Amino acid sequence: MKLYDGMRLMNTQEALQGSVIHHLRYTLGRDWKKASIRDLYWAVSLSVRDRLFERLFETENRYRQGGVKRVYYLSMEFLMGRALGNNLCNLELHDTFKTALEEMGVDLEEVQECTADAALGNGGLGRLAACFLDSMATLGIPGYGYGINYEFGHFRQQFCKGYQRETSDNWLKRGNPWQISRPEEACLVPFFGRIAHTRDKKGDYNPMWRDWEMVVGVPFDMPIVGYGGQTVNTLRLFSAKSSEEFDVEIFNDGDYHEAVKNKISSENISKVLYPSDYFHAGRLLRLVQEYFFVACAIRDIAQTFLRSFDNFDIFPDKVAIQLNDTHPALAIAEFMRYLVDEKALPWERAWSITERTFGYTNHTLLPEALEKWPVSLMEFVVPRHLQIIYEINRRFLEQITLQWPGDEELVRSVSLIEEGEEKQVRMSHLAMVGSHSVNGVAALHTELLKNHLLPDFYRLWPKKFNNKTNGVTPRRWLLKANPGLASLITEVIGDGWIRDLRKLKALEASAEDSEFLKRLMAVKRANKERLAARIWSDAYVRVDPDSLFDVHAKRIHEYKRQLLKALHIVHQYLMITEDDICPEVPRTFVFAGKAAPGYKVAKQIIKLINSIATVVNAHPKARRFLRVAFVPDYRVSVAEKIIPGADLSEQISTAGTEASGTGNMKFAMNGALTVGTCDGANIEIMNEVGRENIFIFGHDVAGIRALREGRDYNPWDIYENDPSVKRILDAFSGNLFCPEDPGLFSWIFEHLLYGRDTYYHLADLSSYLLIQQEVDRCFLDTRKWAGHVVKNIANTGTFSSDRTILEYARDIWGVSPAL
Ligand SMILES: *Cc1c(COP(=O)(O)O)cnc(C)c1O
Repeated sequence: MKLYDGMRLMNTQEALQGSVIHHLRYTLGRDWKKASIRDLYWAVSLSVRDRLFERLFETENRYRQGGVKRVYYLSMEFLMGRALGNNLCNLELHDTFKTALEEMGVDLEEVQECTADAALGNGGLGRLAACFLDSMATLGIPGYGYGINYEFGHFRQQFCKGYQRETSDNWLKRGNPWQISRPEEACLVPFFGRIAHTRDKKGDYNPMWRDWEMVVGVPFDMPIVGYGGQTVNTLRLFSAKSSEEFDVEIFNDGDYHEAVKNKISSENISKVLYPSDYFHAGRLLRLVQEYFFVACAIRDIAQTFLRSFDNFDIFPDKVAIQLNDTHPALAIAEFMRYLVDEKALPWERAWSITERTFGYTNHTLLPEALEKWPVSLMEFVVPRHLQIIYEINRRFLEQITLQWPGDEELVRSVSLIEEGEEKQVRMSHLAMVGSHSVNGVAALHTELLKNHLLPDFYRLWPKKFNNKTNGVTPRRWLLKANPGLASLITEVIGDGWIRDLRKLKALEASAEDSEFLKRLMAVKRANKERLAARIWSDAYVRVDPDSLFDVHAKRIHEYKRQLLKALHIVHQYLMITEDDICPEVPRTFVFAGKAAPGYKVAKQIIKLINSIATVVNAHPKARRFLRVAFVPDYRVSVAEKIIPGADLSEQISTAGTEASGTGNMKFAMNGALTVGTCDGANIEIMNEVGRENIFIFGHDVAGIRALREGRDYNPWDIYENDPSVKRILDAFSGNLFCPEDPGLFSWIFEHLLYGRDTYYHLADLSSYLLIQQEVDRCFLDTRKWAGHVVKNIANTGTFSSDRTILEYARDIWGVSPAL
């Protein structure tokens, strides 16, 4: 049997079967007859991995020979999902492998289903990083992800009596065929200690970082294959290992130091992902994680640079570092320390190199998400870095005072240090000062950054600010997640859309073609059947694939307003049960999403939705028109099943709170229509698909601001003047959904009325109920609905992360594809 073609493994069915059997026998030591599904997963994965490594070496040679500029994407989160199916899809080996395995009596789907997701992220931010890796590899851009190899990823979610229960995600328990450890490239990272204020031979100030403790960072590489397989980049994740042999004399400053040191024994550093989205808890271990990560990354990046070059002045011509939010912002201080302390560069030169190297992406407008670290904590963990941050700040403020003499208010507002009872380092200010580019992630978000969140910085450096609207990879989110739709599209317009999503535009020519519309809706129908089966197996709710599938799937957060969706369902339920008015369109309401374990209101919202589901699904009349299902444990592999089966995509955040959203793009691409507010990328989706092909409702940013600033928003007025609103809210104070637990949901009544409804649910409710009626009317006209679906799919081309990455490459990184 022929296995090799020159230096390359062959991809014939026979060769693939040979690889699988070889790995089963000789790598795993398993007899074919005794192989479990998990053994098969390993054997298949290793066979695919062999093929990735060949191309990885080719890619690395190409980059080295070209002396190319490299991009490093620093992110505390990479929400990768499963690797096997994606790698097969990008290598274009899915079908061959499927048949090869079928002949051996193995079902590829089943093999994939038995594996855990790589859930090293919370939600949108981590998933964006994963989509960017796919796009960089597909485009042939030398781009590397750097992050932490958390031993435990995002928690697993179960429901227990309707309440969220978290269990740990031990995703590495059975090993991971996609990760290769590189202990020979381990980094040494010093922590803690103190600064000795010494002088050098010339008598100049020469601070020494003394009495630190050393932690070892071991890199684990995961190959990232681009579509077509020409390029394989890597995602490098660091695990912390203790290093007794490297301990210097231990500086023992009494019990406090000992106590804390023991708490953070070094291997805990990479133990677990912090499970909160858009919330900064300020925990010591988190700061330690952030520093560990950037210290490893900077050492590694500098090492790679020094293998090819020796002059740091050309560093910015060969390296671009992008900070995914402020979580890795300490990299700026770490790089300065490296250049000044270790490479003895003068401060000014080091600073110019740093500024030209870094770019910073902001992801949120929510104040509770902005990272600030107490100066005392930083001094404890990274005393030398704190000193460097103070020096960066001193020089920065000096420059401000020169430009705007006497403007004390400006100095106070832009300083890297927030004064107050407890002095804190503002990480976003560090990130902005140390970068040549600051970008938002959707047009509206960038405007709000410039004019509302950071107006002083914008006034200082208008040219630093730019927009890079998010995108998602069409490989995972269309080609792999929705094979039925993908092959229909390819049949009609060819397969060019996979690399150039704008080609979808050609589908518009078929918007009136009834034969095409029928096939399109048949694909949707098949996806809904699959989703219905999943809802039954995972949420124990029977649903009808003929009903409208109305999906709200994303992290549970007040600003995303799952509660507004719940108010709509309650309204529908009360119309049926009390007014005897039945909807013309039966609906299945599908929820999915996790709440941060410490976020009480979000966890209550989960309980509420599950309670509503219990009542609605059991009501003999209501259940003929409405079903409610909360699919547990939302993650990438679940999203891949839910999204293709959605008719309606709920994107209903309060205007001005969702920076971009990417779920909105995935749904539209898969032929769901959006009901959304004028927020984040919804606005750009509206502009692309056309106002008549999307359901937009509610206050816009200016409207919400007027309510906030006018101080005349009074939810009580709405409650008293609108009987249907009153009835919905009274259902919560009246125990309709918690007959066995009186008072359980009265908090909602209080939250929305006495709590002044921070996210303006009631301000948008009547408009939301109206637009949902419009949705129903539209859904009744199947052909019209299908026409809207085509217009949506055809106009999502711009939301490919390939477009986003090409803009980063051109405007921020100064790199081009190296193919
Ligand atoms: C895309 C995605 C998200 C982000 O969804 P938003 O609606 O933009 O908040 C979160 N989680 C998973 C698993 C995703 O795939």
